[in-house]
Amino acid sequence: AKARGRNTYHFFSQDLNDAAKEKLQIENHLREAIREHQFVLYYQPKIDIRTNVVIGYEALLRWVRPDGSMIPPLRFIPVAESTGLIVEIGEWIIWEACRFISRQQSRGHDVTISINLSARQFTDQNLAEVVERVLQRTGARADKLIFEITESMLMGDTDAAIAQLNELKGLGVTLSIDDFGTGYSSLSYLKRFPVDELKIDRSFVKDIPADTNDMDIVAAIIAMAQKMNLRVVAEGVETIEQIEFLKNNACYLVQGYYFSMPRAEQDLYNLSYQPLLI
Ligand code: C2E
Ligand code: CA
Ligand code: CA
Ligand code: CA
Repeated sequence: AKARGRNTYHFFSQDLNDAAKEKLQIENHLREAIREHQFVLYYQPKIDIRTNVVIGYEALLRWVRPDGSMIPPLRFIPVAESTGLIVEIGEWIIWEACRFISRQQSRGHDVTISINLSARQFTDQNLAEVVERVLQRTGARADKLIFEITESMLMGDTDAAIAQLNELKGLGVTLSIDDFGTGYSSLSYLKRFPVDELKIDRSFVKDIPADTNDMDIVAAIIAMAQKMNLRVVAEGVETIEQIEFLKNNACYLVQGYYFSMPRAEQDLYNLSYQPLLI
């Protein structure tokens, strides 16, 4: 047992070492990525399925390496978060997203943009000041900007979270709870937070209509969100059956591969404001 324990120890220490090395490597590459402008925002349309019109976009971060390979956000955002680099990257995201809105405004496109906030960004005391400055400088309308936060970011220091949400709301932006249903908060708990929108997590949507439990959960989230006067968005919608189900349950805002994957801005223009055919 002792020998085995030692082996186990070596096994883990080797693993940790590799993980630490990989983290350090990503961290160095991230600094280079910031310097060399290797980040780009992709945009996924948010559709109103009553009219099939694009009402907004979610900005999703992409890291394009010099060799052209694209690194998915879940591989580097945790490192950016733990090293604090996310604050600098996140500020660039806010600028870029607001410049996007202002370009859309000048094309006469009245669309919203949703930005994902990381936990570190959300607890940053300067966040609202940064957002205010970017709105002023870019001329983007505050009511076109939506910040997505997760339930877990509201769980720790609730008073601080409420203060931050109020400060952001004071700028006129919209607040949204991302991945809703995967955290531990109840809707009554959520009532304490000044949020405007819930995004139903893809994990509840993906097995509709095969999984009747998921259908019940989604229907319940939609009904309760309506009672609380929250806008509700379904994410990860991939099939016509899912669209039918959502429509029948009065959830009209959706995102997902059924309509479009996230795309580079130049690849959006053949899409936006054209009613999409289903
Ligand atoms: P998320 O905010 O829940 O974003 C939705 C993810 O689901 C995106 O993955 C999107 O490409 C993907 N998706 C959208 N529709 C479908 C669908 O129909 N089917 C499937 N299978 N997937 C779909 P992505 O872009 O890889 O982002 C993953 C996560 O990384 C995001 O989850 C978010 O938590 C984080 N992230 C992405 N961009 C940013 C950012 O700018 N800042 C921060 N802090 N986090 C970001
Ligand atoms: Ca999101
Ligand atoms: Ca502040
Ligand atoms: Ca989500």
